[in-house]
Amino acid sequence: MTLDEILKEIKNANSFMITAHENPDGDAIGSCLAFATVLKEMGKEKIDVLLKEYPPIFNTLPNIDLIKSEASLDKYDMAIVLDCPEIKRVSKEYHKYFEDAKITVEFDHHLKNAMFADLDVVNPAAPACAEILVSSFRYMKIEISKDVATCLMAGIITDTGGFRFNSTTRETFEFAGWALAKGVNIPKIYKDYLMTKSKSQFEAEKLALDRLEFLMDDKIVFTYMTKEDEEKLNIQPGEFDGIVGIGITIKGVEVSIFARERSDGFKVSFRSNNIDVADICMLFGGGGHKLAAGCTIDAKLEDVRKAVIEETKKHLK
Ligand code: AMP
Ligand code: MN
Ligand code: MN
Repeated sequence: MTLDEILKEIKNANSFMITAHENPDGDAIGSCLAFATVLKEMGKEKIDVLLKEYPPIFNTLPNIDLIKSEASLDKYDMAIVLDCPEIKRVSKEYHKYFEDAKITVEFDHHLKNAMFADLDVVNPAAPACAEILVSSFRYMKIEISKDVATCLMAGIITDTGGFRFNSTTRETFEFAGWALAKGVNIPKIYKDYLMTKSKSQFEAEKLALDRLEFLMDDKIVFTYMTKEDEEKLNIQPGEFDGIVGIGITIKGVEVSIFARERSDGFKVSFRSNNIDVADICMLFGGGGHKLAAGCTIDAKLEDVRKAVIEETKKHLK
């Protein structure tokens, strides 16, 4: 079984690089830090979590100092990629370390995974990559300490929207109960990583909601943010992540769309109550999950708006 091989390789390896998809969210960061903490607790000496930029709210997670933007070795024994369906979605600077590692491993829960590592552990039914790590660590008989459980819980709580999304499983609650008994402060994780926003984030949400338009008998909502807005509001990484989720809470809305201008074009986020938005995003070279997906389109705002709305209309019919 793949996990037996992974455990054998972990035992043989001394240096590790761990990474996730770029613009990492709570699941990406929580999964990376959970894995890094496990390796540290095993006595491994060289562990680099390579992530370029991450939301500063996660600074209170255990072993956050293991996150580095630059590699400290030329070559690692093992590369571990988490919460990422294809190597293309890892920051380009880190591809070299993945390619040069003696062995590569991935754990992921996205719908279409490219099985790009030597050893792949993929389960699209899992609500978070962190939940795959829970069962994997248990299978490998790796102890889940309070610190590891805290990181895993951060991943699970953020990716399930606080146990709200229908991806949430019985195992999710079982692990939450187990973690609580272990001393993990679940209400604090919930509050700090899901319910707290900075003033700039609040202002950004206010602007996006003010611009929100209803289309197709109020079944689609669309809003956007430009680079100019971002500069004015002094936005930190991750502070746009909640916007698309607000639209989908409106009764009757089937699809919520949020387009955000970046250097490589507009990053478009989709949330759905039923139709498969990963399908729509794949048409634009993106992907994700059935009810939460994204893509990047390098075009003018008006063209992006038209293209994504037209495609969503077709899928709704
Ligand atoms: P987000 O809207 O950024 O929260 O992303 C929702 C889901 O879509 C996540 O599973 C992402 O991994 C996926 N996703 C977002 N942007 C892209 C993209 N440009 N290409 C492929 N998948 C994406
Ligand atoms: Mn993620
Ligand atoms: Mn995830």
